[in-house]
Amino acid sequence: MAETKSRVLIVGSGAAGLSAAWNLSHHPNLFNVQVWDKNEKPGGVATSIDVGNGLYINDGVQGGSPMYKNTIRLMEAVGMKCAPVDMKFSFGQGENAWNNSYPTKLQKRFKSEIARFRYVIKFVDFFKLFFAFIPIWIVMKMFFFSKEFCNLMVYPLVALFFGTGNQSERVSAVLVTQIFENKSARMFDYDPQLMVGETADMIAFPKLGEFYERLQKNSESNGNVTFHFGRAVTKIVRNSNGTVNATSDAGTETFDRVIMACDAETALKVLDKPSLLERIALGNVEYYNDVTVTHEDTAYMKSKHDFVQDRKDQYFIHQYSPNSSLMEMSFNLSNYQPQLKGERNIFQTIFLDDSVKEKWTRDEIDSKKVLHVKWWRQFSHSWKHFLVTVPLVRFIQGSGHGTTFYCGAYTIANLHEIAVVSGFAAAKRLGAEYPFKQDANAKSNFGMYYMASHKLL
Ligand SMILES: Cc1cc2nc3c(=O)[nH]c(=O)nc-3n(C[C@H](O)[C@H](O)[C@H](O)COP(=O)(O)OP(=O)(O)OC[C@H]3O[C@@H](n4cnc5c(N)ncnc54)[C@H](O)[C@@H]3O)c2cc1C
Repeated sequence: MAETKSRVLIVGSGAAGLSAAWNLSHHPNLFNVQVWDKNEKPGGVATSIDVGNGLYINDGVQGGSPMYKNTIRLMEAVGMKCAPVDMKFSFGQGENAWNNSYPTKLQKRFKSEIARFRYVIKFVDFFKLFFAFIPIWIVMKMFFFSKEFCNLMVYPLVALFFGTGNQSERVSAVLVTQIFENKSARMFDYDPQLMVGETADMIAFPKLGEFYERLQKNSESNGNVTFHFGRAVTKIVRNSNGTVNATSDAGTETFDRVIMACDAETALKVLDKPSLLERIALGNVEYYNDVTVTHEDTAYMKSKHDFVQDRKDQYFIHQYSPNSSLMEMSFNLSNYQPQLKGERNIFQTIFLDDSVKEKWTRDEIDSKKVLHVKWWRQFSHSWKHFLVTVPLVRFIQGSGHGTTFYCGAYTIANLHEIAVVSGFAAAKRLGAEYPFKQDANAKSNFGMYYMASHKLL
């Protein structure tokens, strides 16, 4: 009997690819799905490692806003829960130190700029269509903010919120307003003395390695989804008869649809004859190489940050100089991840963008106290990303004779929730039903993504 189910290939089993696979697994009569990933396990960048004494850490991705409703629901669907945490941070050192627990000298010095910043944020938010394509550094210049205020207060905040690191001054001004203005993803309340309020509600993710394994198993349980790890896609050919030939070391197979859930760089590299729009939208995504060092060197933390053990800060930012927007970020994972609380100080320091690695102070971390080192390739949220890639993504969905769909955090912003809804959106385009209709907030996050990156609902 002829095969009536649609044969689907998902390239990549990170948050986006697995969400798509899990969603399609609920329709065993409609789809036969294969997921190929070059890694040996699911989860993409969202992973966990053991750090001895029976403890684990999530070694990169940590958590987010309580409004990450699709992420939360997906975790609940496989019996896992996020934990609530209050976000506390400490930026700079000495005269330049500030935090969101109590006002420091620096916050008092910048009192008038902090007050003005609030009005500017509201103004930019009101004219968001205009400011979406203007980098924050231009807005700060237009409104006569000092370079020090930008470098010491505004850009570190952007880096913390969006993980944009050294690219923070190039982030779209409208994205920055979301820190305070976005009703669904807002993390901080504005505070006239501190700039950002004392407690910001956040969630910490459960053990991500386990979550993604459970999601994989749950997706396989209906019998229509299979995973192939250690299988890197090397070529995707879209045929004029509406099929796709996908090649890896294991050979070539034919599918009816392909969901590209890998990074934009890989997608463009493996596509045979990408269209002009695919070349522009995917080729515009800029990537940087960062390295994280997970360590227990408290002396290093004290040498770079305003480190006060009892304040229980989670995020730290060290500026390479007050007049430079270049920075390194650290976390005290023990104040963030609930399973570590009270056990020991486990830190993670991220050195950003290896093109400026002569600034890095990685060698100052005591090598005997290093637990783990990992390299990452992360994309930039520059204004160009929002001017070119984000608006064009909707026009490359269904390209290659209607065969090819795109998902992944890069289609909008580097947030776990975006990756998840992007996977559901790709699955919906193939005919799957959105899974969390009963949750109005989850549905709203999904709806906003779908409108931006696909079409009107
Ligand atoms: C260090 C770090 C910390 C972060 N922290 C947070 C955080 O705290 N909160 C938050 O909300 N977000 C955070 N993010 C962002 C968020 O977690 C990511 O945006 C999201 O997990 C990305 O999911 P994805 O599926 O789009 O991509 P990925 O996870 O990158 O998945 C892509 C997959 O494609 C596979 N692949 C690539 N090439 C091929 C190929 N040729 N063939 C087959 N497979 C291929 C890869 O192996 C990978 O599994 C963080 C990101 C990083 C890197």
